[in-house]
Amino acid sequence: MKEIEELQKMIDEAKNIVFFGGAGVSTESGIKDFRSKDGLYNQKYKYTPEMMLSAGFFYSKTEEFYKFYKDKMNCLDKEPNITHKYLADLEKTGKLKCVITQNIDGLHTKAGSKTVYEIHGSIYRNYCIKCNKFYDAEYVFNSKGIPKCECGGLIKPDVVLYGEQLGEDFNLAINSVMKADLMIVAGSSLSVYPASSLIHYFRGKKLVIINLDTTDYDRLADLVINKKLGEVFSKLKC
Ligand SMILES: [Zn+2]
Repeated sequence: MKEIEELQKMIDEAKNIVFFGGAGVSTESGIKDFRSKDGLYNQKYKYTPEMMLSAGFFYSKTEEFYKFYKDKMNCLDKEPNITHKYLADLEKTGKLKCVITQNIDGLHTKAGSKTVYEIHGSIYRNYCIKCNKFYDAEYVFNSKGIPKCECGGLIKPDVVLYGEQLGEDFNLAINSVMKADLMIVAGSSLSVYPASSLIHYFRGKKLVIINLDTTDYDRLADLVINKKLGEVFSKLKC
């Protein structure tokens, strides 16, 4: 386990760590990777998931959007795994400054992480598009048909749909990446722009990529580990 020892040494020596995670962080919690072969993107639906998760679809075919969303995006019963828990513990030591995630499942917060930048949003936040009133995830997933606000307005999940800009969390993530001395990227194929561009803001000493498959950014990394995240994070100490 030479590579895990090497990663441990980097964590021990670092003072300002950022973690940037993709769908692979949640797969061991039973949440399917959108883009894997048996993931969401290859399931049979009348429209492609990219279409159904677009802003245009949300506003024009709202009922069908919510049918798909409630069917496939409800992960309220899912629990954090060893990777989420390790990161929450590492934050408590003061070394890990933030978790940046592409996932909308809220599992880092559930695991106890405090500073989490959810650059694609979260199913846990929902707002009326008319009066901006907040609604929790239970309200949305338990609603019949299209979830409506008490003012009659349409409720929209605070998740970044295709065709929408990334929110303020992305700017905060960039700031953190620029200040970090160790960046750990895990469970992401790094194929989704602009999230993948975060790596280009890193000016620190060590870049680590942990992913089952190779990524286009491997050549930039000081250490690449092609293993399941659970295998790696279960062996690390804070
Ligand atoms: Zn309202």
